[in-house]
Amino acid sequence: MNKALKANERELIKLIRFFSKRAEQLTASEELSEDQRQLTQACQNLEKQLLQHAENRVAIMDKRARLEKLIEDNAQCPKCHKAEMLKQQAVTTNEHGWKLNTYRCRRCNTSFTWNRPNNPWHMMEFMELYIKELEESLEAGLEPSIRQQTEAAIPQLQDSLYRLRPVLQDSDEEVQALTEKEREMDKLIHQFKNYLLIEKIKLDTYQE
Ligand SMILES: [Zn+2]
Repeated sequence: MNKALKANERELIKLIRFFSKRAEQLTASEELSEDQRQLTQACQNLEKQLLQHAENRVAIMDKRARLEKLIEDNAQCPKCHKAEMLKQQAVTTNEHGWKLNTYRCRRCNTSFTWNRPNNPWHMMEFMELYIKELEESLEAGLEPSIRQQTEAAIPQLQDSLYRLRPVLQDSDEEVQALTEKEREMDKLIHQFKNYLLIEKIKLDTYQE
């Protein structure tokens, strides 16, 4: 069965298939009642809805996973300033609540935390703070050459921020909508499964 399905969805689809198969047999022998026909129809509709929902969930979570990997560290060892012998070790959280990667340089046998967030959500906050710091340094007064660099850097950072923000907001909204839908579906699955289980028990009558 479809791997994208959750355990409760898979369980319900098994039951649905049981009733569909039974309806086929009853149709063949011309014994299908109107109630049974309606039940079969409801089962098929729900199965379609479940598969559609699972497909939608996979698409949203794939997109989310791609976004999470959007940031490339380009980390360098603080001692040898090289990147080739680096091995990413763990993820740590700093005082701002941002997640950062920790690395080990196998050449220098040294471990360090890279100074930038490893994901676009925290990177957005990092850039916001960085822009603020640059603006403050401009107000405080800088040497002309540094002032020029700083003045050029700010709109570039703002541009990245303006492009990143709506993409992340869309994804956040999508995930939130999915979570709500998931709750509704879980409830529906639970109710329908219990209903079908009772119908199945009713079929299991003892024949003398
Ligand atoms: Zn090194």
